[in-house]
Amino acid sequence: MNISIYCGSQTGKNPVYIEKAKELGEQLAKAEIGIVYGGSNIGLMGAIADQALLHGGRVIGIMPEHLQKREVAHLHLTEIYIVDSMHTRKAKMADLADAYIALPGGCGTLDEYFEIFTWAQIGLHTKPVILYNINGFYDALILHFEKMLDDGFIREEQRSILQVATSVDDIFNILSANHDEIIKVANLTK
Ligand code: AMP
Repeated sequence: MNISIYCGSQTGKNPVYIEKAKELGEQLAKAEIGIVYGGSNIGLMGAIADQALLHGGRVIGIMPEHLQKREVAHLHLTEIYIVDSMHTRKAKMADLADAYIALPGGCGTLDEYFEIFTWAQIGLHTKPVILYNINGFYDALILHFEKMLDDGFIREEQRSILQVATSVDDIFNILSANHDEIIKVANLTK
């Protein structure tokens, strides 16, 4: 099983973000769940990758050619794909994963999260899309979903795509609730 991780190219000011990112990297490695991510060694992205590798995990990076310098490609990944564009990166990350998790991050993270969210919304996939709400970082965004629902811009079935985790245990619970689907998808991609 592989999970795509979307998260900041920076670490954030509060050390809790990097601590929780590292914990997730370690726990995914121990659960033998592969990580698919942007492929750089900076920010929360680099922290998760390093920690997963340290614990024997499988980490696959997808790096667009033109970002290789700016994002600093991680040189010790299990596998790295150098692709021609951001669009190819996002498509490859989407293809390789059986579930998606967004950690705290900036506009790039939100873009990636909402793209995969809206792909679920229009039926392009049925994989879990998890928002990892570390330190209440996404509280305001979660509230905004209520506003969109109340004001009639999304329907309940669209809002139900939103799955919020506040711990690694929550993440594993969400993944096991979708276990059949995940196993099915994993078998199809072998
Ligand atoms: P950020 O959350 O802005 O720190 O960015 C996190 C990740 O999102 C990095 O790997 C960026 O390359 C990626 N990213 C940044 N901008 C975009 C964008 N416009 N579209 C897709 N991904 C992006």
